Amino acid sequence: MHIPVSHIAYKEQPVDILRLDMAGDGISGNKYFKLKYNLEAALENNFSALLTFGGAFSNHLHAVALAGKTAGLRTIGIVRGEDDPLNPTLQFVRQQGMHLYFISRQHYTQKNSASFLNELREIFGDFYLLPEGGTSDLAVKGCSEILADMEDVYDEIYCATGTGGMLAGIISTPGLQSYVTGISVLKGSGSLDKEVKKLAPHVNVKWQINNNYHMGGYAKYSSELMQFIQWFRTEYNILPDPVYTGKVFYAVLDMISKGLITKDKKILMIHSGGLQGWDGWNYRCADKMRQELSGIKQ
Ligand SMILES: *Cc1c(COP(=O)(O)O)cnc(C)c1O
Repeated sequence: MHIPVSHIAYKEQPVDILRLDMAGDGISGNKYFKLKYNLEAALENNFSALLTFGGAFSNHLHAVALAGKTAGLRTIGIVRGEDDPLNPTLQFVRQQGMHLYFISRQHYTQKNSASFLNELREIFGDFYLLPEGGTSDLAVKGCSEILADMEDVYDEIYCATGTGGMLAGIISTPGLQSYVTGISVLKGSGSLDKEVKKLAPHVNVKWQINNNYHMGGYAKYSSELMQFIQWFRTEYNILPDPVYTGKVFYAVLDMISKGLITKDKKILMIHSGGLQGWDGWNYRCADKMRQELSGIKQ
């Protein structure tokens, strides 16, 4: 698959951006790669349904609903929290035919337990299981192809890290020489290192996780981040997403400003997609404003 590369410069430091947001046959960004071999396995093993887990605004649910529909597989989404018929992500996945099943946050913590999965099999019949965020060995294999067609050689590569699946895939790219940094978008993600080592145990590439740019935690609202994203879009005509790539681009430009990324280095940032997140973001912020206003009225 051809993935375009954008070339920008910040304070005279050239930075390339791999545009997964512009590739993926409608399944945006890294989720295309995470799902690719899982879909193949589901079809080869004659499954008729995919079941997965996610938050109500999740890019993963969005991608699975679309991918399942395209592949002719039923999709079941186990969603954390309560139903909200106005949530744009839930509206979209329903339109794709995804069956949604809502469970409490507490119940959700059991998502990997065998007894809970058996319970789900009793309700829904047999299914091909995709874990939360879609991260699995096959997802890592798919993500090890993200850089496959790149001709340029980079000293440093920066990508967003949620569950660590994409980072594990990137560092598994055959022949890769770059130093890879995953910018964690989660607060307190101390076990992420271990997770990535488990997913990619035999790599020679140098890599690290940077925990300095979660900006309050997963999908947290920060006006500093929003201002940065607006500036970035105006300056470079490229829109990051609010949950993942906004933080990566912020991090890289901040490190350039601070002299932590130096001009002798050739840099690549990965735009891993996720633009559907804006619908949820706008909806949540409007919702927050409504709550604040009704608070004032009371
Ligand atoms: C899901 C997602 C990620 C995180 O990928 P992990 O494999 O969970 O680390 C990064 N960027 C975007 C846009 C995503 O949708």
